[in-house]
Amino acid sequence: MRLSKFFIPTLKENPADAVVPSHILMIRAGMIRQLTAGVYSYLPLGLIVFRKIEQIIREEMNSIGCNEFLLPALSPNELWNQTGRLEAFGDIIFRIKNRDLILAPTHEEVFATIAKPNLISYKDLPRMWYQIQTKFRNEARPKSGVLRARQFTMKDAYSFDLDFEGLNVSYRLQEQAYRKIFSRCGLKFFSVEASSGTMGGNESMEFMVESDAGEDIIAISEDGTYASNIEVATSYPETVKRKNTNHPYEKFHTPNVKTIEELANFLNIKNKSRLAKSRVFVIDKQKENQENEYILALVCGDDEVNESKLESIIGRKIRPGHPEELIEITGADAGSIGPIGLKRKDIKIIADLRLKDADELISGANENDYHIKNIDLKRDVKNIIYKDIRTVKENDLTLNTKSKIRISKAIEVGHIFKLGTKYSEALGVKYLDKEGKEQLIVMGSYGIGVERIAAAYIEQNNDEKGIIWEGEISPFKVHLISLEEGKIGELAEEIYKFLTEKNIEVLYDDRKDVRAGFKFNDADLIGIPLQIIVGEKYIKEKKIEIKIRRTNERILVNHNDVINKITELLR
Ligand code: ATP
Ligand code: MG
Repeated sequence: MRLSKFFIPTLKENPADAVVPSHILMIRAGMIRQLTAGVYSYLPLGLIVFRKIEQIIREEMNSIGCNEFLLPALSPNELWNQTGRLEAFGDIIFRIKNRDLILAPTHEEVFATIAKPNLISYKDLPRMWYQIQTKFRNEARPKSGVLRARQFTMKDAYSFDLDFEGLNVSYRLQEQAYRKIFSRCGLKFFSVEASSGTMGGNESMEFMVESDAGEDIIAISEDGTYASNIEVATSYPETVKRKNTNHPYEKFHTPNVKTIEELANFLNIKNKSRLAKSRVFVIDKQKENQENEYILALVCGDDEVNESKLESIIGRKIRPGHPEELIEITGADAGSIGPIGLKRKDIKIIADLRLKDADELISGANENDYHIKNIDLKRDVKNIIYKDIRTVKENDLTLNTKSKIRISKAIEVGHIFKLGTKYSEALGVKYLDKEGKEQLIVMGSYGIGVERIAAAYIEQNNDEKGIIWEGEISPFKVHLISLEEGKIGELAEEIYKFLTEKNIEVLYDDRKDVRAGFKFNDADLIGIPLQIIVGEKYIKEKKIEIKIRRTNERILVNHNDVINKITELLR
């Protein structure tokens, strides 16, 4: 490809609205341009990279017997009502105003609709289907360029099996294909246990790329035996030891004490584990004639309540109680709530495992500016449910190996789910088994973000000059720079012809009237792994320069040896 004919609008300056390296560099290297918040145009260079990623995904999906489809982005509201997801997704779904249609954020329903009349006998199963297709999600906060966009390309695959044993097999096949895909894309990645969110189902795994640009928080153990999304991460629960002092509980005045921090200062206590932190959550009623339900979550003062864990324990959506509701529910404002003397008697109390049967606790009195001490959960609070509801912290120990845990940020590039029968039940997707009995098809779903892979790669491979491509997803293998016209220009042309004939993808900077410094900067910014520089060195020493982008190493070769050296370096 000749640069003189290839549209790569590079920029010298960082765009004002970009913060993370991949966003800055994709704009500066002329790969993408924003049209409006979270919506991007893919320019020729960006598209080459995205297509290469798609091709890797396609090959790996095909190789496990997964068939490629292409389903519409438009989808009827009615179908999404049948699974309850029109409501469950809420504002994430883009709705068409003048038709009862939505722009699909994912395709479980649509693939299940194809399966229903076609996969009707045990002989039709198992099946794996996929597509590489544009998804629409009205993300509340699109950010970091294509890392979180409102329109993006996803590979979404779905498996259909006779039973859960079959699902396990499909799930493993997908997992293995995912590992190959991310390795071929040059990512340093790992897999973590994950929560299933609004997808439903019981087991899921995320593929993560550790990066400061990530929006996910993960817990990773030092010994490498454990990695988990913080939403579901567990650790060894250091319990609050029972003292068995049996002091009666007692209310005391704590003027203007609103936070655990202030309470600890007020009492001059360093270890906050005995200061029980209370948080109120509400399960909103589904129908007019029902009532809201309330939960008091109790954790140690040095811990935080993990809302996603709590949600999966309850099995329903929860929200923190609004400040104005709290007085009505508990009798006090946020800083003075506790497990004893709650105003509403129907509040369910769920305490963290660290607090199991703990005594000598201090917590809010459900009366502003008062707390209660010497609380014995075993003695004083009836019907407590103990569950793991805290968020894992840095330096916690793993459950199994007692290895130290560190907390880090990561980008989720892929997610695989065991869906089970949620969708087949809602949509009636059944088959006849060997005995002629109707059975529900067991489903799995498997997603990968195409542009997000490219951005994650750039997050892991860049320097102050620009992007550093290597391996299969590099848009070109060689960047040929011609610095002079006349004889030297002819030599560059010759090398270009040669590389092209050898099927080595080459970007050829044949631009006239562009300064050498400008060409070098562009080459480093775009980041093709090898640069061939035909210029001054040739005039002086009859040598051609090959520069390795990542290391900046320069190798001088005779012009006859260029192709051999390039082939060797590309290996
Ligand atoms: P996230 O938690 O980041 O919103 P998700 O759990 O909603 O992701 P899935 O529904 O599992 O994502 O989608 C599968 C894959 O699609 C993700 O692993 C990710 O690579 C990609 N993806 C999801 N949302 C976006 C987005 N808004 N922009 C770009 N890629 C996305
Ligand atoms: Mg999402």
